[in-house]
Amino acid sequence: MKYVRHVSTRVTPQWEQIPGSTQIPNSAGGYAFPVDDWVRLDRFLILGSEGGSYYAGERELTRKNAEAVLRCIKQDGLKAVARIREISHSGRAPRNDPAIFALAMAAKLGEEPTRKAAFAAVPDVARTSTHLFQFAEAVQAFGGWGRATTRAVAGWYEREKVGELAYQAVKYRQREGWTHADLLRLSHPKAPSAAHKELYAWIVDGVVPADAEALRQIEGFEQLQKATAAVEAARLITEYKLPWETVPTELRSSPEVWAALLEEMPLTAMIRNLATMTRIGLLVPMSEATRKVVGELKDRERIRRARVHPMAILAALKTYEQGHGERGKHTWTPVQQVVDALNEAFYLAFDNVEATGKRWLLGVDVSGSMSMGAVAGVAGMTPRVAAAAMTLVTAATEPHHVVMAFQGSFVPLGISPRERLDDVVRKTNGLPFGRTDCAQPMLNATERKLKIDAFVVYTDSETWYGQIHPVQALQQYRQKMGIPAKLIVQAFVANPFSIADPNDAGMLDVIGFDTSVPALISDFAVN
Ligand code: CA
Repeated sequence: MKYVRHVSTRVTPQWEQIPGSTQIPNSAGGYAFPVDDWVRLDRFLILGSEGGSYYAGERELTRKNAEAVLRCIKQDGLKAVARIREISHSGRAPRNDPAIFALAMAAKLGEEPTRKAAFAAVPDVARTSTHLFQFAEAVQAFGGWGRATTRAVAGWYEREKVGELAYQAVKYRQREGWTHADLLRLSHPKAPSAAHKELYAWIVDGVVPADAEALRQIEGFEQLQKATAAVEAARLITEYKLPWETVPTELRSSPEVWAALLEEMPLTAMIRNLATMTRIGLLVPMSEATRKVVGELKDRERIRRARVHPMAILAALKTYEQGHGERGKHTWTPVQQVVDALNEAFYLAFDNVEATGKRWLLGVDVSGSMSMGAVAGVAGMTPRVAAAAMTLVTAATEPHHVVMAFQGSFVPLGISPRERLDDVVRKTNGLPFGRTDCAQPMLNATERKLKIDAFVVYTDSETWYGQIHPVQALQQYRQKMGIPAKLIVQAFVANPFSIADPNDAGMLDVIGFDTSVPALISDFAVN
């Protein structure tokens, strides 16, 4: 019987479809399972499309994702809006830009109830002025401002807590080509209180408020703009709890000023300004400031409350430890304790999980296609670097694990959670590129007779090179080893493919760098 050598549902080369399956061609000349538009919406919200992918430029990848978002909006607009709100509000995504973009699409391109829901979600999704400016801009792209946009923006400025609004007004004065004055002129909010009225007048006409207690930060801001001495500036910053954005440029290299800023600095701003605070001499070994920074970075509660995303920490670590900015203009000497604290903070920023005690094989795809694009828009954060970082999260929790890297074959890459993240990033970056065979983790485990309960494959599912599909390799593994092993696929590119078979209950498709992923996959491994 020669025919079965050519066609079999148990062993099919990756460049052919498994007979009778729902597989579709991927971009690499192989076959993978399609994911539905809702998964694509989630992938877009979490991974974004910055830098494109190996197979598509940024424009093309964004366009394809926007089409998927639009199909969700047309299919069930209320569900789409709820999803956008949930992912944005929970802090599961590294960046809010995709959520703002998707929300603007729902607000302008959805049916009436969808549009209503989208505008109602504006305060939850556009939490800062920057987000609101982005929303104002995105709405322009999808048909322009209408009455509903005007109402939503006015509502943002009519919120009860006028002190919060004053903080937003001094902190972000302009972004994305928009200012608060622009938005106030366009939206005409009705001032709910005298203090609101005074605040609007300050924003639009520069009229300094008399002495409303809630608007004290405006007064502080005005005084700070006139300050020339660092001592005076530091006093104002402390007294009025002013953020660093309010500090005049010429005072931004003073350690005194930064020491005052650090007192009330939000954690996200602190993480972003570590290099600056080191360069100007505030963060040095043994200093009080260093002790404070390190303490906060190791405080899980604080990290969770501030919704600091692990990707932001990883990006900060990557820049900080190299001692110079991306363009090389500024240099600093990294403080070792800060580097170590960032390393710890990365793990703390994920949802807390307990070890399952299962046996894990963590297989990271380091093939050529994983080396292009910037996950969540972070420069240098290629999918494979992001994937290597994600393996450490599970490896750090689970005592029984093996980490392997693969392309068309096994690639030696000794990484372990005992290593610092930035070393892992550097090591992963330095690997050569090759073709892709996502069946390698299962094949390798079969060959070495490794006892594995859960395979996690970190990939873009653009697999094409192997003689057998990953799902078939898993079935072979289960049979040969007598272990009902599961397969979890973590996606690192917002494309429509997965190597996980949606019809196999032992397989799960999730998104890399979703903060809820460690909890999700340990649940799946146990149940
Ligand atoms: Ca590949």
